[in-house]
Amino acid sequence: MAYVYDDQNIFAKILRGEIPNDTVLETEHSLAFRDIQPQAPVHVLVIPKGPYVCYDHFALEASDAEIADFTRAVGEVCKQEGVQDGGYRIISNAGEAGVQEVPHLHIHVLGGRGLGRMLQ
Ligand code: 5GP
Repeated sequence: MAYVYDDQNIFAKILRGEIPNDTVLETEHSLAFRDIQPQAPVHVLVIPKGPYVCYDHFALEASDAEIADFTRAVGEVCKQEGVQDGGYRIISNAGEAGVQEVPHLHIHVLGGRGLGRMLQ
């Protein structure tokens, strides 16, 4: 499958500094910022800086350095936001079935309250 990245998506604009964001962490290859419509007391989006549409695109085509940086960034956000003890959920929606709204890979980090059971 050929991945087609739309550089007009809202997170691309955030990365270019065209739209403001509430940054919680920035690394060489990743950016983490608060979701504009938080679903929990902690709701942070972690994105790679590279033009990747979704998780499989990133996992299959990003460099080892980008993957290591992004994986660490997600862990660092969990630590920084203090959700390690109480627990948290990470989610990445992809494509139509996954109801992905923004076509730039993002991991939602949710925590700070009981999140309920998602999978039965
Ligand atoms: P998706 O449904 O694609 O997994 O989630 C996209 C997320 O991006 C949603 O939770 C939505 O609230 C968030 N979002 C959409 N536009 C903006 C924006 O301009 N700034 C920020 N910080 N979050 C956004």
